[in-house]
Amino acid sequence: MRVAVIGAGVIGVTTAWYLQEAGAEVVLLDASAEPASGASFANGGMLHASHAEPWNTPGVGLDLLRYLGRADSPLLVRPRAMPGLVGWGLRFLWNSRRSTFEEHTRLNARLATFSLQEIDRLQRELDPEGLNFGFRRCGILKLFQDPASQARNRAASEGMMDVGVRFEDWDVERIISEEPALAPVRDRLCGGLYFPDDAIGDAARFTTGLLAITRRRGLTYYPGIGVRRLRTFQGRLDALETSAGPIAADACVVANGYHAPDLLRPLGIRLPVAPVKGYSLTLPMEADSRLNLPLIDDANKVVMTPLGNRLRLAGTAEFAGRDRHLNPQRAASVLDHCRRTLVGLPEQMDAETMAPWTGLRPMSARGTPILGATQVPGLYLNTGSGHLGWTFACGAAALVRASVLGEDPALPLDGLTL
Ligand SMILES: Cc1cc2nc3c(=O)[nH]c(=O)nc-3n(C[C@H](O)[C@H](O)[C@H](O)COP(=O)(O)OP(=O)(O)OC[C@H]3O[C@@H](n4cnc5c(N)ncnc54)[C@H](O)[C@@H]3O)c2cc1C
Repeated sequence: MRVAVIGAGVIGVTTAWYLQEAGAEVVLLDASAEPASGASFANGGMLHASHAEPWNTPGVGLDLLRYLGRADSPLLVRPRAMPGLVGWGLRFLWNSRRSTFEEHTRLNARLATFSLQEIDRLQRELDPEGLNFGFRRCGILKLFQDPASQARNRAASEGMMDVGVRFEDWDVERIISEEPALAPVRDRLCGGLYFPDDAIGDAARFTTGLLAITRRRGLTYYPGIGVRRLRTFQGRLDALETSAGPIAADACVVANGYHAPDLLRPLGIRLPVAPVKGYSLTLPMEADSRLNLPLIDDANKVVMTPLGNRLRLAGTAEFAGRDRHLNPQRAASVLDHCRRTLVGLPEQMDAETMAPWTGLRPMSARGTPILGATQVPGLYLNTGSGHLGWTFACGAAALVRASVLGEDPALPLDGLTL
């Protein structure tokens, strides 16, 4: 069976690997010359089932109003993006009803837990072939300054325990003993939740490393070739029309991030996926100042991830349409928010040493990824992973492979399809 996968981000490359592992002949295409050049390039590096909540939390509508016009807020809607967001935005808000939100959180947590098991397997099996992406199953610590927020997070984590999320309650003394870099802000903290099964790793290194292995095993990779249209014949997928001519395939997986709706619209499929912009900075770290643990700062809505001799800072959610322009003020605000917890970070953002970056997360209006078959035979999806695409990559790819090849999926796909 010949399967075309569109998109060489972390989702597309992982999907290609899983399909090839099961014996499919795989063709991978990407409009960019390099893999992982979209949202997968410099993300937060966190592999966390513990963070499974969709971003459309109950009350998100009020938060959006509260943050309106505040350029340094963690959540921002750019007025020029609003017209394009109407349909998606209404669905996003509709899915923030508490019962729906809780159901979607559990679906995400279950998928993320499975995905972490799978990435463990890949890391072990492919290490001898050179897959090295700084994977560490060191757990992740979420810090709190507000006891009410900590209590809400604890209750949410308890709700995910039966799908495999474990956590420990840490007091401030334990936090400081495990992560001495937090000693200067001891008085501000009220406690933390530590998630021992969470992990970290560099998504771009994973993507390029896995692609290299997959190519050595026979994958056909077309960089710099964009798919313009999906062609059907007698109602089923037949070929991809690309910038380099048509490519025939028995099946196709659309894994091109927030661009996916463009390819599906001409086939009458409305895909509720929109771009949500985020920023990251990557700092070189001296050996004696490296963090022991990856941190999520609940109060400032930023993440701080030690990736070997670098520290990745990431955060912000901005509805800015497809604008990938790097706004230095927004990037500086990520640094500023991180410095409230890691007080030793440099004062000024320096573009040379901090490698500011921005990416567009492919966010589904539901808050869960959109996987598997469509109404067009031969056409499959793996998109909409939003803020959790790195975490979901292996699990989602395994489920999509089962759909394409007609295998029994490792988890039920209910609630995760279009
Ligand atoms: C600031 C930030 C921090 C994040 N932190 C985390 C984190 O800590 N943990 C986590 O789990 N997730 C995180 N994420 C989310 C995660 O990075 C994304 O969900 C994930 O990278 C999405 O991968 P993707 O392959 O779907 O999309 P992309 O990486 O964007 O890849 C899509 C690819 O499709 C290609 N393409 C588009 N259209 C076409 C076409 N027509 N033809 C051919 N190719 C096409 C593009 O060139 C691109 O290479 C973060 C995201 C951001 C922005």
